[in-house]
Amino acid sequence: MARIPDEIIDTIREQADIVDLVSDYVTLKKSGKNYQGLCPFHNEKTPSFSVNPERQIFHCFGCGKGGNVFKFLMEHEKVTFVEAVHHIAKSLHITIPETARDQKTSSEAENLARVTQFAAKFFHEQLLNSDEGAPVRQYVVQRGLSDTTVHTFLLGHAPDSWDALLTAARHKDISPAWLEKAGLAKTNGDRFYDAFRNRLIFPIFSPSGRVVGFGGRALSDEDQPKYLNSPESPIYQKSRVAYGLFQTKDAIRRDGRVVIVEGYMDLISLYQSGIETVAATCGTALTPDHARLLARYAQQAFLAYDSDEAGTRAAVRGLEPLVVSGLWTRIVQLPEGDDPDTYVQAHGTDGFMAQIEQASTIADFMASQYDISDPRAREDVFRGMTNLIKKTSNLVHREQYKEEAERRFPALQNLLASELQASRFVGRDYNTPQPDETQETKPRNNTERELIQLMLHRTEITELVDEQLEPGDFTDETCRFIAEQCFVLLSNDGPADPATLMDRIDNEEAVQVIAELINAADSGTNFEQRAWDHIIRIKQNQLKREMARLMEQIKQMEQSASETLPETMAAYLQLKQQEKTLLQSAPQIEVGMG
Ligand SMILES: [Zn+2]
Repeated sequence: MARIPDEIIDTIREQADIVDLVSDYVTLKKSGKNYQGLCPFHNEKTPSFSVNPERQIFHCFGCGKGGNVFKFLMEHEKVTFVEAVHHIAKSLHITIPETARDQKTSSEAENLARVTQFAAKFFHEQLLNSDEGAPVRQYVVQRGLSDTTVHTFLLGHAPDSWDALLTAARHKDISPAWLEKAGLAKTNGDRFYDAFRNRLIFPIFSPSGRVVGFGGRALSDEDQPKYLNSPESPIYQKSRVAYGLFQTKDAIRRDGRVVIVEGYMDLISLYQSGIETVAATCGTALTPDHARLLARYAQQAFLAYDSDEAGTRAAVRGLEPLVVSGLWTRIVQLPEGDDPDTYVQAHGTDGFMAQIEQASTIADFMASQYDISDPRAREDVFRGMTNLIKKTSNLVHREQYKEEAERRFPALQNLLASELQASRFVGRDYNTPQPDETQETKPRNNTERELIQLMLHRTEITELVDEQLEPGDFTDETCRFIAEQCFVLLSNDGPADPATLMDRIDNEEAVQVIAELINAADSGTNFEQRAWDHIIRIKQNQLKREMARLMEQIKQMEQSASETLPETMAAYLQLKQQEKTLLQSAPQIEVGMG
């Protein structure tokens, strides 16, 4: 099996920046020399996810996941190591020699990504240059979409044909079966045909910028449905992808707020009018995954759905995931018959911004939706509000939502007070990690771990430990493995950093321990003295274990009056003497810069 040479992997890793990469998925805040954020791998409310820019390593103190740039991408995008290397290489414009690549090892996800990427380019090319695309280009201009928008969102045109994409794909050796897997072709008996025909195409990107799916708007009134969305696939889970987020996430992170819309055109119109802090749920309801995804970039959410009945119902359903995710939530209530696209076209950027500024509180929104003079409806609203407030994990928000609700519905006051009293700890319970998220509980050898930590920080400590100890001196299996790998790396390639080490070893637990040790706070002084202390402690522990073994023998021998008792006694006393010598041998190193 062909593999990518280590040198190329090293080059790519060295040129990549883990803070940049992780920032595509997680809002990071500088904290000391590291960056902190909410872990993308487990559900949490207080940041325990840390990125070390100096060492280029991430680690989550909550769920234990950790590693370098490649590891992050592998975990997050569910790709193989080779795919992660290729992806980062591409973003850095580093070419990996073709011979180093083995097509057979590419996974289904990689093949699908190749197919969707090809199709997106094909559709885009059709829109820009084909003769058939001319009326569509006119339509795009009519809808007020600029060239920049067409390029930014890679808009395209699916020709009015049963096999335009199929034929183009065949020329690129992409089989109809793969198009079908990607939702781009369908079968009728044994015949394949294009799934998207005569439609304006909106490619859907993952947060890292890979095309994962498509939306297509019908260009003729006869074609139904008006919007067609590609089905889910191994690379496209609708509940986890927000349309436009790849293009808007930097603006959302800067601003701390996100306007959530329903449609492709809503998003694009707002973006083009200068409101770039927007994301869309397309062809699916807003899920808890969506809310968690958006909560990584924003603190405030503004639901701006269509003002019709379906849109309002969707907004009501969308409240809970948003509130639970900790996003401070408001609802933009557009005038009857409007959607964000039509509204911004008619009233401009300022008009829409005014709608955001005067967005409704949850209580006001609920009051506008139900006739609360009707006792049944009132009870529904009260119960709905109470449940929502109870589920708010952010205690500050909870108090604010409560105040707003009481101001709007004074009759709620007593009910809320008693309900919230009964559920005082709900908010806190939500923060408690699930059993599978808690840290491993097996005992740790702190001496060995700290010595490994020093080795990872300083090559000269690895040299010292290599002189003083054998890998077998480490009792903790993972520590022993890491020590051994450090020694091997030292003798083969000379000094190496932990991020490199991670790519050389195939041991999940070791990678996580290395990440944890690197990202854990370190006082950072007097490395050599501390290393010596740990080395001596490890040697002493060894002697102690051996002495304990002999003592056990001695006790048995005393009972059976064994003849070899004196020899064993002598051996024991010798170990005792060795321990004494050992403890006196600790060099006193002058305290310097470490
Ligand atoms: Zn985590």
